[in-house]
Amino acid sequence: MSFFYIFTHNNTGDYVKRQSVWEEYLKKNNFSELTEETNADIVIIGGGITGISTAYYLRKTGKKVILLEKNAIGSETTSRTTGKITFLQDGILTKIKNIYDEATSLEYYHSQKDAIKELISIIDDEHIDCDLCSADSYFFSNTKSKIKEIKSERDILKKAGEQVFEIDRLPDGLKVSYGIRCIGTYVFNPIKYINALSELIKNYINIYENTKVTKIDKVNNQYIITANNIEIKASTIVVCTHYPYFLLPFMMPIKCSLEKSFIAAYQDHSDLNFSAISNDKPNISIRYVEGTKRFKLLLTNSQNLAFVNAIDKNFNPLKTDNISYLWSNTDIITKDYLPYIGELSPSLYIATGYNTWGMTNSTLAGSIISNIIMNKNNQYADLFHPKRRSNIKTLLKYPLYISGNMYSYLYSKINKNKNWYQENVLITNINGVSVGIYFDESGRQFKVKNKCPHLGCSLIFNGEEKTWDCPCHASRFDLKGNCISGPSNYNISFQDENN
Ligand SMILES: Cc1cc2nc3c(=O)[nH]c(=O)nc-3n(C[C@H](O)[C@H](O)[C@H](O)COP(=O)(O)OP(=O)(O)OC[C@H]3O[C@@H](n4cnc5c(N)ncnc54)[C@H](O)[C@@H]3O)c2cc1C
Repeated sequence: MSFFYIFTHNNTGDYVKRQSVWEEYLKKNNFSELTEETNADIVIIGGGITGISTAYYLRKTGKKVILLEKNAIGSETTSRTTGKITFLQDGILTKIKNIYDEATSLEYYHSQKDAIKELISIIDDEHIDCDLCSADSYFFSNTKSKIKEIKSERDILKKAGEQVFEIDRLPDGLKVSYGIRCIGTYVFNPIKYINALSELIKNYINIYENTKVTKIDKVNNQYIITANNIEIKASTIVVCTHYPYFLLPFMMPIKCSLEKSFIAAYQDHSDLNFSAISNDKPNISIRYVEGTKRFKLLLTNSQNLAFVNAIDKNFNPLKTDNISYLWSNTDIITKDYLPYIGELSPSLYIATGYNTWGMTNSTLAGSIISNIIMNKNNQYADLFHPKRRSNIKTLLKYPLYISGNMYSYLYSKINKNKNWYQENVLITNINGVSVGIYFDESGRQFKVKNKCPHLGCSLIFNGEEKTWDCPCHASRFDLKGNCISGPSNYNISFQDENN
């Protein structure tokens, strides 16, 4: 795997790392890779917060469970999150109410409250040190037309019996046109949390890192999983790969969109601790990080991936003094703002589509999937069922997503020869292959195939993080062409015959 860190100076002369603040806590090669054929009752694919939470719930069921992770535990979306544990999720209750009804939005609210309670009790019961802090949540707006969304969220929360406080200022003094505050919410370090869970479960479950699943077949009711060219036989599979690209019939690209956000961590010397999110355009999201050093995280400019063009420019508003880390992250937005968690086909489970709220929803995923596997009831299984019925409002979104996909594919093709950002990037054709070349400061060339192996979109160079990013479904590749984020499962290395 590639731990490729890039450093440059900030305005105060300190180094800025092009990685997330949580990546400091990733453990390299903590678990061995799979080297020989094996079998299991349950195979979990993916070792982010979803896979590890699911393994935690299954650890004492008496089943033989193995978890396969293609890189290091936590190294993808989970290590680039903002790590808020909250039910005040950016107007999501209003969005769900608008698609279904108030009862459904209240059910979602209760699922999140239960997930918070569950997450906190796991941390307490297992004595997990993950810098958990209580932090009130704020949702605010400085846009007149968007204040009604916040008021609607307030009304749903009040109906649920939640205490909601109206505010015109954040605790750091920032004046806002209108906002609400809720209590009983938290922040934590998600990588310290899943590292601790991995240690707890390793006595019950075999965890393999650097083990990439490339194929799933089904023969006589048994799954045959190919990883690192080795076969594993299992009766049950849980796909926790974030984007579930093995499941073609599920047609994920037309069921969701992707949202990319840009995040910075600044050294902070205040004693503030709150989390906040706005619904303005561009939006912002704030939280504070406790640990050996204190940071303030600021996220801005969340955008539908299809419309993110010049990636570098999105980082610019974040570049101010005291900046220590700079990174981006992408999450999956479902057509009805409810995650897909549950059984997709016999003994094949998925957990994905958290609409940027994965800390709570991954805990729910672990509990729902383990309950179903163990033939127990779970009150939220129907709400999140991956094959839940569409209604007219969700059906109307299909053409939108299909055209969104077409748009990003065609746009990527039309613009593929454009030299997007800088002189040190060249898109060219070598022996009939579209190739992207990055020239480093000493003139060294890094060539990759400029075609995403997932669905063939042309890639955009991300000059800040020095990666090739797919504008269609968010796969990312490092300068050598190694895939560092799915849905692509393959690399884009280019071997030039002349080199
Ligand atoms: C900008 C941003 C901010 C966010 N902030 C918050 C927040 O404050 N609070 C909150 O609740 N949520 C937040 N989220 C959402 C949350 O971070 C994600 O929903 C969550 O981390 C997803 O976890 P996961 O385990 O499903 O996916 P991942 O962490 O991506 O894990 C999937 C794992 O599967 C592995 N994998 C993939 N393919 C294979 C394969 N072929 N074989 C083996 N392994 C494979 C990957 O390497 C990876 O480790 C945020 C998201 C974004 C984008």
